[in-house]
Amino acid sequence: MKSRKLLMIPGPIEFENEVMQRMAVPTPSHVDPDFINVFGNSLNLLKEVCQSSAGQAFIVAGTGTLAMDMAAANLIETGDKALVISTGYFGLRFAEILKRYGAEVDILEAEVGDIVPMEIIEQHLKSKAYKLLTLTHVDTSTAVLNDAKCIGALGKKYNVLSVLDGVCSVAGEEIRQEKWGIDLVVTASQKAVGVPPGLALLVASEHAIKVFKDRKSPVANYYADWANWLPIMKAYENRQASYFGTPPVNLIMALEKSLQLILEEGLENRFNRHKRVGKAMRAALKALGLELVSKNEAISSNALSAPYYPSDIDASTFLKSISEDGIVLAGGLLPESKSKYFRIGHMGSVNKADLLATIGAIESVLKHSGSPCELGVGTAEILKHF
Ligand code: PMP
Repeated sequence: MKSRKLLMIPGPIEFENEVMQRMAVPTPSHVDPDFINVFGNSLNLLKEVCQSSAGQAFIVAGTGTLAMDMAAANLIETGDKALVISTGYFGLRFAEILKRYGAEVDILEAEVGDIVPMEIIEQHLKSKAYKLLTLTHVDTSTAVLNDAKCIGALGKKYNVLSVLDGVCSVAGEEIRQEKWGIDLVVTASQKAVGVPPGLALLVASEHAIKVFKDRKSPVANYYADWANWLPIMKAYENRQASYFGTPPVNLIMALEKSLQLILEEGLENRFNRHKRVGKAMRAALKALGLELVSKNEAISSNALSAPYYPSDIDASTFLKSISEDGIVLAGGLLPESKSKYFRIGHMGSVNKADLLATIGAIESVLKHSGSPCELGVGTAEILKHF
C-alpha cells in the first residue's frame, strides 16, 4: 500500500513535478547569466499573474509575513493613519505589523464568516485622512473572499493606498491589480503560486513606489527596506548581476517554472477552474450536512473551504481518522473557535480526483463516527460539477 498522503491543507499545497524538479538541480551561482535570466523572467511573470504591467515586482527570501512586514515597513511612517479591513486572523496580524512601524490603526472587523459592508468602509474612509488601508483577499482562517475590486475603487476614490494580502489568493482568485487600483499586492510562494514555502512576493504600483520614495524618515527595518531591494530587482530586470542578500536560487528557478505553468493554463481558465473546484467542494460539504464558516456563496473563497464539525463528532479524532485514510486536512485557526471547524485547501494543481478522494474520506469518517450522512452523496456532488 502506498504510504503517500494527499496534502489538502491551505498551504503548503501539492506542487507540480516540473516545479519540484527545478528544486532538485545543482544550485548555480546567483550571478550565473542563466540564473540572472530566470530571476528577470520571474519578476516579469509575477507582474503578469497580478495583472500589473507598470508595477514593480519584488522576490525576496522569506514568507508571506515578511511580505506584509515589507508593506508596513516601507509605506508607513510614525503617526500615519491606517485602516485594516479584517475578515479573520490575518487581518488582525496586519494590524499588529502596522502598529510596529508606528501607524495609528483603526480595525474594521467583520463578523466571523462575513465581510465588512462596503458602506461601512466608505464611511470610515470619508471620516479620516487615512494613508493606507489593508484587506485580506482570502482570509485563510475563515475562507472568506473579500471584494478586492470594490475596495480598490474606494481606495482610489479617497486617495488611500490599498494593500492587498493575496497570500491565499494570488494565482487562484481573480486579481486585476492595475485595473482595480490596488497599490500593493503581497503574497507568498506556497499556496496557489505553487512553489515550496520560502518566497515573499510583492508587486507595487508606481504610486506605492512614489510614496515610498517620498518618505521623510528612514525605513526602520534593514532587511525589508526597499531601498536595499529596488536596485537588485532593477538589475535582474535588466539582466545584470547584483547582490544584497543571497537569493534562494532553486526556489526562484521553481518559481519561474510555476509562473510559466500558470500563464500557460491562462489566467481566465485558472480562475474559472478554481471557481468550479470551490463550488463543487462547497456543494459536496453541504450535501454531507456540514455548515460552512463563510456565510454565503458570494463571499466564499475558491482556494479553501472551512466547514464546522457536526456537533455529534469528536473533533479531536476526526482529522486523525481522515489522515489515516490518506488525506491531510487542517484544523481551525481562529483562536476562539479553532476546535469547532476544520479547513480544506483546494488551490493550485488540485484536480477532480483530489476532490473525490478528499470528500470520500470525509464521508467515510463521518459515517463511521455515527453521523447520519449517506455514503456517496458528497462524491456525487463533485461528479455533478465535473
Ligand atoms: N496572509 C494569509 C491570508 C495567509 O493565509 C498566510 C499564511 N497562511 C499569511 C498571510 C502568512 O504567510 P506565511 O505563513 O507565509 O508567513
